[in-house]
Amino acid sequence: MGKPTGFKEFTRQTPAERGPKLRILDWNEFHEHMDILDLRKQGARCMDCGVPFCHSGTMMAGMASGCPINNLIPEWNDLVYRNHWREALDRLHKTNNFPEFTGRVCPAPCEGSCVLGINNPAVTIKSIECAIIDRGFEEGWVVPQLPSTRTGKSIAIVGSGPAGLAAAAQLNSAGHNVTVYERADRIGGLLMYGIPNMKLEKHIVERRVKLLEEEGVKFVTGVEIGKQIPADKLKSDFDAVILCTGATRPRDLPIPGRELKGVHFAMEFLWANTKTLLDDGLKNGAPISAKGKNVVVIGGGDTGNDCIGTSMRHGCKSLINLEIVPQSPAERAANNPWPQWPRIYRVDYGHAEVEAVFGKDPRSFSTTALEFIGNAAGELTHIKLAEVDAAPPFKAKAGTERIVPCELALLAMGFLGPESPVAEQLGVKLDSRSNYEAEHNKFTTNVPGVFAAGDCRRGQSLIVWAINEGRGVARECDRYLMGKTELV
Ligand SMILES: Cc1cc2nc3c(=O)[nH]c(=O)nc-3n(C[C@H](O)[C@H](O)[C@H](O)COP(=O)(O)OP(=O)(O)OC[C@H]3O[C@@H](n4cnc5c(N)ncnc54)[C@H](O)[C@@H]3O)c2cc1C
Ligand code: SF4
Repeated sequence: MGKPTGFKEFTRQTPAERGPKLRILDWNEFHEHMDILDLRKQGARCMDCGVPFCHSGTMMAGMASGCPINNLIPEWNDLVYRNHWREALDRLHKTNNFPEFTGRVCPAPCEGSCVLGINNPAVTIKSIECAIIDRGFEEGWVVPQLPSTRTGKSIAIVGSGPAGLAAAAQLNSAGHNVTVYERADRIGGLLMYGIPNMKLEKHIVERRVKLLEEEGVKFVTGVEIGKQIPADKLKSDFDAVILCTGATRPRDLPIPGRELKGVHFAMEFLWANTKTLLDDGLKNGAPISAKGKNVVVIGGGDTGNDCIGTSMRHGCKSLINLEIVPQSPAERAANNPWPQWPRIYRVDYGHAEVEAVFGKDPRSFSTTALEFIGNAAGELTHIKLAEVDAAPPFKAKAGTERIVPCELALLAMGFLGPESPVAEQLGVKLDSRSNYEAEHNKFTTNVPGVFAAGDCRRGQSLIVWAINEGRGVARECDRYLMGKTELV
């Protein structure tokens, strides 16, 4: 602990954001970099607690409390305060393969369990993490780390999201020959085509992929396992197979009018937008465009909010965001004490952008869609909404119906697990939630030599959990192949 009185002297500061009206004119990241001296003061706020809950990474009340990859937060906070950035970077890389992703898009469960957060604003952990790795790249400290020997063992990883990439990085570092298969044309999974550019610029993903390639990981794009290559062929061609295929089956909303033109799954919209942005800079607009349209985003969370931010950048005419749950309280409720993840009302970037442009937060809480209404050409023109009860099964309240104009409806209601062909071809069992069945921290499926990790195993989650699972599956796969492991 560099400065024992730091938490008393300095108040919490987070990076400035570009103004909402300005940032919706482009697709660049909206966070500014913080001044180095300010960051050091933020590091000085860390109290180096005897029991640092921030890096405990346990599940409480169904949510992560503390960092799921056990980042050594008090240690790098102290190193940053004392201006030892290179050592802070080494400490950070011990537990996190990709801090440039989590430092940008992690919801920071670490901050929810920061001890200072009991009666003061928490230490700004995530921004310090981001600054450490950004400085590492700027200074040229992040270079390929090649393994000293090769084991001769080969591993196929299916899916190149953060789970697949973390597994590849770890197994390659242990000297195995790793091939990552990805059906998309670019590597990164939801880092590339889910999370939009304004939250995570894609050159940042590509920079890390290039490093992994230089370290010896082989990437094969445009190949869907189960279609172009039968899944069981991987089993005979490789010593082990790891499934990191994500939870890509979206939850549908089977109400009248679902077939109308203008009703889309969120991922159809987001995927097409980022792909076109990267391919041709959106010079002819987006394939599914919100420009000039009344948009209704059904569902909240990161996916719903990213649909809002993307629609705002297209230049939508109006935006409503339906949340089936009631509005959360401004402060922790009595049944949600520290160090649990605080279930409080938050304003995300998309909400702030709508408020700045249209003068009102877009969210309509305790509200559902009852019907999509169209014209003779089969195009969506309106949507019928209704208020719902405060608790499941969220029944619509009679007499609360209203009809609003809507030419684009985006379904962002979560995901139902992985698509099944790979599991079927390999004979991998599914669990009761239709994810690949494998125990956390073991990651072995019912088929010997076949492992599963990330969203395809735990259900739709977070980047930081995908990294946790990618590292964990690498450890267990290494143990399976070598009889022992030094991976952590
Ligand atoms: C819109 C959106 C925004 C999000 N925002 C955030 C955020 O801000 N912060 C956060 O922490 N989390 C966020 N998440 C969640 C996070 O992105 C996921 O939890 C994480 O990416 C899961 O990683 P994964 O590696 O398990 O799977 P994915 O990232 O889903 O990657 C799976 C990959 O497998 C590939 N694949 C599937 N089947 C095959 C096959 N048969 N052959 C070859 N390839 C295959 C897919 O194409 C995909 O590229 C967001 C999710 C969405 C949808
Ligand atoms: S990865 Fe997420 S939870 Fe862990 S230290 Fe970074 S911001 Fe916090």
